[in-house]
Amino acid sequence: MIRNDIRALKAYQTPASEGLIKLDAMENPFPLPHALRKALADRLAEVSIHRYPDPTYADLRRKIAAHCKWDPEGILLGNGSDEIIQMILLAADAGPCIVVEPGFVMYSLIAKWMKRPVATVPLKNDFSLDSDTFLRIASREKARLAFLACPNNPTGTLWPKEVISDIAKGFRGLLLIDEAYFAYSGRTHTELIAENVAIIRTFSKIGWAGLRLGYLLGMPSLIREINKVRLPYNVNSLSCAAAGFLLEHHALFQRQADEIRAMRDALARKLAEIPGVVVYPSHANFLLIRVPDGEKTFKALLDRGILVKAFPQANDGLRDCLRVTIGLPKENERFLRSLKEILS
Ligand SMILES: *Cc1c(COP(=O)(O)O)cnc(C)c1O
Repeated sequence: MIRNDIRALKAYQTPASEGLIKLDAMENPFPLPHALRKALADRLAEVSIHRYPDPTYADLRRKIAAHCKWDPEGILLGNGSDEIIQMILLAADAGPCIVVEPGFVMYSLIAKWMKRPVATVPLKNDFSLDSDTFLRIASREKARLAFLACPNNPTGTLWPKEVISDIAKGFRGLLLIDEAYFAYSGRTHTELIAENVAIIRTFSKIGWAGLRLGYLLGMPSLIREINKVRLPYNVNSLSCAAAGFLLEHHALFQRQADEIRAMRDALARKLAEIPGVVVYPSHANFLLIRVPDGEKTFKALLDRGILVKAFPQANDGLRDCLRVTIGLPKENERFLRSLKEILS
């Protein structure tokens, strides 16, 4: 009844986090301020939930367009950017998809659901990316589609812009640049958008993860085609209304992102002073660190009530690495103190 390759998969799992300091999922740790909650509730109360949403999402697309200074016709909404990735993998030319390793797992995972072959480009030991290697492997594998997260997850690396533009110029297939951490890196690639280059964004990492809202910025001609595999009403009316409201207060969330960035840099400096800890430079709202025994450290942190992300089966350069999302000041201090205890 069920395909054997699906049977062989494990369902995507996230660990239980109740009662824990949650530093595993790149969420913004600041809850919505009280005054905004009330105003948001008033806005949501006006939504006609007995009706389907506007099937074209014209209003929210216009607001995002104004926010990004892009053409509304060049914007596609997804139920999280994961759904955008799925739509692209559905609509793109048959043929291998190319990803970097270590990189974001959803690209290759969704590709496998669709029986699309995946080719990988290994990053160097310091997680840097060589554009010639990328283009050579892409051409050898006859890749039709490529994903590059800038900054990269789980490494936090932001490759130089020339590397990305060289790849954009040299790649023959469709290139997706994933800017999930745009609020933290401050660097966009919209000027690289072309017939075969588009940008994936999400509201998740800036503080609206619960809305499940992502979008694609591209040429209207590309967006029109990918829109054909979008399920009708893929984004719900409440998320749309909430996103429209929150965009009006975007400056607040950008200030939070700036504060998180400052906390990240301070935490990185303190972590680097701990003997045995390697801290990788990050342009996102998390830090990737390497410790002497990743699995043991992960468990010891969990015993102290702190959940981070470990990579137990890593055969891709992430051995003994932990990915730690920047939390509230108290949480970051508690993490730092616990890690020092564990490693001393
Ligand atoms: C978190 C993340 C996403 C997924 O975001 P959603 O919009 O929540 O689905 C996409 N790409 C990268 C690189 C991410 O880290």
